[in-house]
Amino acid sequence: MDSETVARLLRSLQDAGEDDEPSPVAEGTERYVNAFVARRGEDEPAAPLAPLTDYELLLNIGSPHPASLVEQAEAAWPDELLPDHGFWLRAALLLEGQREATTAPFYLPLEGDSWVCSCTPEQPHAEACSPWPWVRLVIPALERPGHWKGELLIYYQAAAVVAMQVELPVGQPDASPSVPVVNKMTRSFTDLGKLSKRTASIVLLPQSDRIVINGVGSLDSPFAIEANAADTSAANVRTALFDSHFRHAEQPRRWPHPSRPGLRSRYDARFAKSHSEYEQDLRRLAREGQSSI
Ligand SMILES: [Zn+2]
Repeated sequence: MDSETVARLLRSLQDAGEDDEPSPVAEGTERYVNAFVARRGEDEPAAPLAPLTDYELLLNIGSPHPASLVEQAEAAWPDELLPDHGFWLRAALLLEGQREATTAPFYLPLEGDSWVCSCTPEQPHAEACSPWPWVRLVIPALERPGHWKGELLIYYQAAAVVAMQVELPVGQPDASPSVPVVNKMTRSFTDLGKLSKRTASIVLLPQSDRIVINGVGSLDSPFAIEANAADTSAANVRTALFDSHFRHAEQPRRWPHPSRPGLRSRYDARFAKSHSEYEQDLRRLAREGQSSI
């Protein structure tokens, strides 16, 4: 390859690069997740937080808010991965020590800031729709100085789009509250085919020993399972499944089949078992499944 060809190739690569330059979201239209703490019913950021006081975590998606505790570099809303029309979202705040999340539906229009209204989620807005700007999630009062820790998630249908960790010192003037983003949707699921109808999502948060499970529909609340509890539940279900297939050898086999400690199948030569045994398996799995949620 002569030097002229190389130069031409480099030029064409450069041109191609320039063509690719514009980002999918036009400049000035980026939206951000904003979240901060205010006294209950107020819109002004509160800091430091005091014991015996009711607060709310305020959240929206829109232009960057100066009081937001979410770093702007992390807070960009992934508009490019979501449908190009307005849609309902759901915010969920799950604080340690609480098994169920506080949730609130809100609406994100195609452009501009999100809003909250009393219209029915997933339905068109009523003519008399009167929106207000902030999603408000209750933070219960602490009796004495301490920490509220937890997770703040924004769901589109069953998918967690942004997951944030919440750390709110209470009664500690030197400690600052923080809401770092710990997980964000990285690809669009509008093209996931059959998975687009999925009805649950599980978010495993780094530096946290909990997993957050979100069920189907806008009325369900996500809930958390402590890591140990999740391990135990999973182990119980695994054991039940295992037991439905195998049993430990009870009697030594006779020569010429030497006795081997180990497992025997619970199925017969046709890989079948009796109706009552099968029913017993299903009953046990149903019980384990029920107690693991
Ligand atoms: Zn409305």
